Amino acid sequence: MNLPQPLQELIDQFEALPGIGRKTAGKLAFYLLNVPESQLLRFSQALRDLKSKTKKCRVCYNLTEEDVCQICSDPRRDRKQICVVEEVLDLLVVEDTRKYNGLYHVLYGRIDPLNNLGPDDILIPQLMARVRKSGRELEEVILATNPNMEGETTALYLKNKLEEQAKKDNPGLKITRLAYGLPMGASIEYADYGTLGRAFENRNKF
Ligand SMILES: [Zn+2]
Repeated sequence: MNLPQPLQELIDQFEALPGIGRKTAGKLAFYLLNVPESQLLRFSQALRDLKSKTKKCRVCYNLTEEDVCQICSDPRRDRKQICVVEEVLDLLVVEDTRKYNGLYHVLYGRIDPLNNLGPDDILIPQLMARVRKSGRELEEVILATNPNMEGETTALYLKNKLEEQAKKDNPGLKITRLAYGLPMGASIEYADYGTLGRAFENRNKF
């Protein structure tokens, strides 16, 4: 049976999204068919505004409606720290911990040689320019890239680049990496060697 064209189109669009198969796409489309008109309008308006009203902060490249994002323009944030993350979603997770009060830099990716992604394909040049401009005002760069091969490669590259830069104009600059350890609620018995090794290296005073 052929579905009405708009419904079929919606199913196809949902199916094109990551992690959504044909069945789920159908479920979502039929669900929306039964949702009140006003809610549908809000949904479609959000879709329409997604690109047109969203831009990247010109300081940290976080997503924003203004030229400079809320974090960068907040006078209570500590300007002496920059936390480098791979994606905006990572920034949101760090924010949720409420443990960090500095600024960010979003790379939009990671160095990934197997997929031909080098330092210049992500926002590393922008980070370096920012660090150069900050000079001695900057005290710490926190490398919060993912604890996997690409994230480690990216962190190592940045560490070398930043150290080189720091030697020239900011010798006191601290370069730190997030400590990774055992997940809460996990038992040591089931931890993989990488995680356990890292947890040992980064053990804290108790
Ligand atoms: Zn910003």
